[in-house]
Amino acid sequence: MKNGPKFAIYRNTLEKKAEEVRRSMSAQKAAQVVARLDIPSDEGDLSQQHHEEWIFLNRNTIDMKLLREISDALQRIEHGTYGVCLECEEPISVKRLDAVPWARYCVKCQEEIAARIAAGETVDDYQEADR
Ligand SMILES: [Zn+2]
Repeated sequence: MKNGPKFAIYRNTLEKKAEEVRRSMSAQKAAQVVARLDIPSDEGDLSQQHHEEWIFLNRNTIDMKLLREISDALQRIEHGTYGVCLECEEPISVKRLDAVPWARYCVKCQEEIAARIAAGETVDDYQEADR
């Protein structure tokens, strides 16, 4: 499957999404700085602060992962391999691409991979960032 004009729409969507994630990441960072300035030097607040930090880091990890997925998808558009399942090399349905434009796998393969992960198998890097 070669680069068709229809991929321009997905590229647009992906770039917009990446922009949105980056913006939300820097907004969170700014909020974190403000929160720190507001923290009274009271020992009782420490555990709460750690908890918030953990959520922040976790949230950031998800965003970073999503950004990477998006940039991988943009590369696949460049290489003309976008919209093809990386596992079975069948075309990924338009419905799925519309829902998850950075999808690497067709629904069937994604479900199989998810089942393997659920079964406790470590599948490196195969888990899809989703929201
Ligand atoms: Zn597949």
